[in-house]
Amino acid sequence: MTLKDLHLKAKKEHWAVPHFNFSSYSQLLGIIKGASQLRAPVLAGTSEGEREFIGIKQAVDIIKSLRESNNIPIFLNADHCHSVESAKIAFDAGYDSIHIDLSKKPFKENLEGTKQVVDYVKSKNPEVEVEGELGYLATDSSKVYNEVIEIPQDSYTKIDEAILYVQQTGIDRFAPAIGNMHGISVRPKKIRFDLIEELRKALPANLTFTLHGGSGTDALDLKKIVEMGFNNIHISTEIRVAYTNALREALAKDVNETTPYKYLALARDAVAELVIEKLKIYNTVNVI
Ligand SMILES: [Zn+2]
Repeated sequence: MTLKDLHLKAKKEHWAVPHFNFSSYSQLLGIIKGASQLRAPVLAGTSEGEREFIGIKQAVDIIKSLRESNNIPIFLNADHCHSVESAKIAFDAGYDSIHIDLSKKPFKENLEGTKQVVDYVKSKNPEVEVEGELGYLATDSSKVYNEVIEIPQDSYTKIDEAILYVQQTGIDRFAPAIGNMHGISVRPKKIRFDLIEELRKALPANLTFTLHGGSGTDALDLKKIVEMGFNNIHISTEIRVAYTNALREALAKDVNETTPYKYLALARDAVAELVIEKLKIYNTVNVI
């Protein structure tokens, strides 16, 4: 099953393909463990920083190997490529999915750059999905925000731009800004359901919507977002926090423990638990 088939199936059956980021092998093992337990697919992602740490070719090889030895679909996404060049490098290395994120550039530049990536990818392998982003997220993935975050009005996706962007680029997945934010905020995120509805009406029915910055979003809001046709949901910060907290706890509990596979197993399991919790919210249970 291709990633495209998987997203279409998810749309038809009202669940979401989960996207989780990783920058260590034990983190990735936790993601796969959680998904396997619920018979769910996984789109594992690396940001530019994460893939530089893991090694771009190594990320591709690890996923390929895990896919062969696990009985669930596992795909690799190049998350938030901030230049056409960076997107091409990931595609050439063998990623299954490319997210070109020029959302902080002017509209015309974003459209043209995204189109360049789609043309490049589709001319070589039409099965590889390309995601484009329009409207920008004002915050950062690595942070837990204690202060109130004001979302700038001009950052929300504009309907007329969205129609042009989707039509002219030919992307497979669309990531809008609808009140979502990267990172975790102490205040619940205010999702603009009115804007989602307008975008849904204006854009092709078979277009997959992606939610970035799923971390810290209210569970009922997440359910509603899936129901409204977001069939790809990104969680990164919550995974980082669960992994790091479990690791800190494990190390503090036994200061003489020096065997990495023992304390890392606890961090892996904390990730698996979080993955299971999220998949249940997305209705992504026994779907494959
Ligand atoms: Zn993101």
